[in-house]
Amino acid sequence: MNNDLIQCNATQQLRRKVLIGMCIVLGVAALLFGLSNIFYFGPRAKVLGMLELAYFAASLAMLVHIWRRKQPSWFLIFHCVVLTFLICFGTYVSRIESSLYLWAVALPTVFYLALGLRVGFYWSLSCMLLELVALHFALQETVLVRSAVLLNFVLAYIFVWTISHVYEDSRVKGVDRLNALAHQDALTGAQNRLSLVTAFKQSPAQLEGSYLFTLDIDDFKSINDNYGHAAGDEVLKEVVYRLSQVVSRQHIYRMGGEEFVVVLTAERVDEVGAITLVKQLQSRVMKTPIRFEDIDISVTFSGGLEQFTQQAGLDKTLSRADNGLYLAKKSGKQCAFYQGTRLS
Ligand code: GH3
Ligand code: MG
Ligand code: MG
Repeated sequence: MNNDLIQCNATQQLRRKVLIGMCIVLGVAALLFGLSNIFYFGPRAKVLGMLELAYFAASLAMLVHIWRRKQPSWFLIFHCVVLTFLICFGTYVSRIESSLYLWAVALPTVFYLALGLRVGFYWSLSCMLLELVALHFALQETVLVRSAVLLNFVLAYIFVWTISHVYEDSRVKGVDRLNALAHQDALTGAQNRLSLVTAFKQSPAQLEGSYLFTLDIDDFKSINDNYGHAAGDEVLKEVVYRLSQVVSRQHIYRMGGEEFVVVLTAERVDEVGAITLVKQLQSRVMKTPIRFEDIDISVTFSGGLEQFTQQAGLDKTLSRADNGLYLAKKSGKQCAFYQGTRLS
């Protein structure tokens, strides 16, 4: 439901650093190249020099903007487009001996860091093809061995490209894994309280009209006391497994101890549907005892059902559902309440 939050933050922070690095390092490089192209090299390099100075000015303006406010995502795209253009155009207009094409080898790393795995891949491929076209023309008036230059360029480029791809792939997977760990309960594999709060904070409109079912295992302490903590753990895992046979595991949240919230999403259920699902959850968990080693442990739970509205908010909806749970416990456990009425 909400796998993206940490991923987004980590990636945004990385890209912010990449953007600042690009503005500083490439901006200064563009300034130096621009000045030398305008004052020391022939008239063909003058246009390139002017473009490089414009790039320096744009980098400076972006740096000021980033310092003050949030960065628009097109800044990174702009850098990648301009870099690709400057290097390919530079290779084309300046002599091959200027070795400007060497810069192209560094580009895949920049593309992957700035644009991510998929776009980085296609951009790196396009950039290599463009640079090969530029090199083809740049190598026409040279004494260098054409095939050797082209082969070395392609091999070096693919080498850096592959490493960049592998690095970005493992970075994204690592962040995803961290994300899952931060939002998951390690014992049961259900989502945790943070995950529930994040989901309702991120997309409350999408969850409008959903039902929250709060459930608490009855007399769980005595399961621990009678059969041991390991048996209690097994019961928690098995309860989540059984719940997940009725609703997606993504919608089961462990709020702490032996208390869970199941979100019945609006697109799947109306009021009657929600009540039917609650009955299915009860039946699936309570119908057969849970086996731990050689012992059969009978498990029941009490619950409270409530509909979520943005107007009420998550906290109020949860506390109303908790009130239903309280009524269920008070009236002998092993049952559920919805809006003050016992569900038979
Ligand atoms: P009630 O029917 O009123 O809900 O009573 P209860 O015994 O289920 O509730 P109580 O709050 O008295 O006890 C909950 C127990 O759950 C106490 C705590 O030691 C145990 N517990 C909390 N987390 C875990 C866990 O991760 N594993 C195990 N085995 N026990 C846990
Ligand atoms: Mg309990
Ligand atoms: Mg409890």
